[in-house]
Amino acid sequence: MFDSHIHTKFSTDSNMTLEEALLKGKEYNIGLVITEHMDTNHPEEGKFKFNIEDYFEEYGKYRNNNLLLGIELGMSRDFKDINREIIMNNSFDQVIGSLHFLGDKDIFHKSTYENREKNEVYKEYLESLLENIMNHTYIDILAHIDYICRYGPFEDKELYYDEHSDIIDEIIKSCINNNIVMEINTRRLGLKAVKDNLFPIYKRYKELGGKNISIGSDAHVKEHIGNNFSLATEISTSLDLKVVYFKDRKMNYL
Ligand SMILES: [Zn+2]
Ligand SMILES: [Zn+2]
Repeated sequence: MFDSHIHTKFSTDSNMTLEEALLKGKEYNIGLVITEHMDTNHPEEGKFKFNIEDYFEEYGKYRNNNLLLGIELGMSRDFKDINREIIMNNSFDQVIGSLHFLGDKDIFHKSTYENREKNEVYKEYLESLLENIMNHTYIDILAHIDYICRYGPFEDKELYYDEHSDIIDEIIKSCINNNIVMEINTRRLGLKAVKDNLFPIYKRYKELGGKNISIGSDAHVKEHIGNNFSLATEISTSLDLKVVYFKDRKMNYL
């Protein structure tokens, strides 16, 4: 098994050391893909960006078949050229594409949801996700389709396939057509409602031709590495989706 989505100290919001991550990987007997945050569009100077040279310099000596060096790239329309350049000019093992902003509004911030209906803001989120997949077709993995469910102030935060089936179908199709693997992000998966409502999305992925899946904890602290992996495996097994990870930008089966 591989945990294909892990943040360490090169990410603005993590203090985890590589040594801590490696110990956990050993304990659980799983491989790790480090995926540090690179949100080129983040408005705060230096936030959620990292020095790629330092990253490879410091972690390169630990790189092996069980420790791969990737990136979580924040997708945004206005920064798509910069993003492409970063990926083309560096030898990451794996590129995860994420949507963390709606235009210039941070999905993490409460103000993004002020005076907005859930349905309307979720629709905008999904439309933006689709647009940005089209702008970043070279990514290997689409991260956390349920990202917006983490931070919205709504009593019921879940994303329901049936409420947005048209746009979710388009997102899934654009992943499949561009050889982008969808991720099961296990961060929220421990809640029954989350698993129940994500399942129909992965089921649809399978129905539309999806074959492979990536599993990642999105750990920012060592305790979260490998979190809820048995639940993610239940989903992948029941839908006959093959769990994969990327090394040197090439897909590998477990
Ligand atoms: Zn993310
Ligand atoms: Zn992440």
